[in-house]
Amino acid sequence: MTRTPQNNRQRFDLVIFDCDGVLVDSEVISCRAHAETLTRHGYAITEQQVLERFLGVSDREARLIVEAELGLKLPEDFEAQVKQAALQRYPSELSNIPHISAAIAAIGVPKCVASSGTPEKIRHGLACAGLHDALAPHIFSATQVKRGKPAPDLFLFAAERMQASPERCVVIEDSVAGITGALAAGMTVLGFHGGSHCLPGHAGKLRAAGAAATFDDMRQLPGLVAAGAGAGWPPGR
Ligand SMILES: [Mg+2]
Repeated sequence: MTRTPQNNRQRFDLVIFDCDGVLVDSEVISCRAHAETLTRHGYAITEQQVLERFLGVSDREARLIVEAELGLKLPEDFEAQVKQAALQRYPSELSNIPHISAAIAAIGVPKCVASSGTPEKIRHGLACAGLHDALAPHIFSATQVKRGKPAPDLFLFAAERMQASPERCVVIEDSVAGITGALAAGMTVLGFHGGSHCLPGHAGKLRAAGAAATFDDMRQLPGLVAAGAGAGWPPGR
């Protein structure tokens, strides 16, 4: 088959989406559930305070900080309680990231999901946000690999399953850990900072972590992916 000039110029064969904060606006719900559960255990805190203090902090680290301030131990299953509280809120409170459905439909190369969540959580979130059918069955979870983000394992696994070379993959991420993992996998990363949880300065953090470009509106994504051709990419940088 003769490749058209357009095919020759195509830079990416696969778009890999992170889920939380990229496809679904779930991070704020996690913060809400975290605040609610902490408050129930005697540590009064608001959703906004959780966002500012604990987003991007590991579960273990957050637990140690709270326990030190409370002067007592949180229950063994505290993290499970938070996750359960968040999942219960999904059907009524989870929304997708604005314009993500149209962006997915407009991108003309294969797409998949690579998320740190369990398969059940990812599917539940995507279903509640009305995105599951647009991306299934190409949904990959960190539970399928040895090391989660910021290790490259999940991205490499997804690329292999989708039969794409890492250097021809573009990853869409909203977290520093995700960007670090995608770069370690030899992929290009675009940093998205349009989720409700993103505080001022988030884009700068994503660029500092190595995002090739950052954007906050999913209407920009098809153009960014398609423009992944030749000189001058990424635009605006
Ligand atoms: Mg994320």
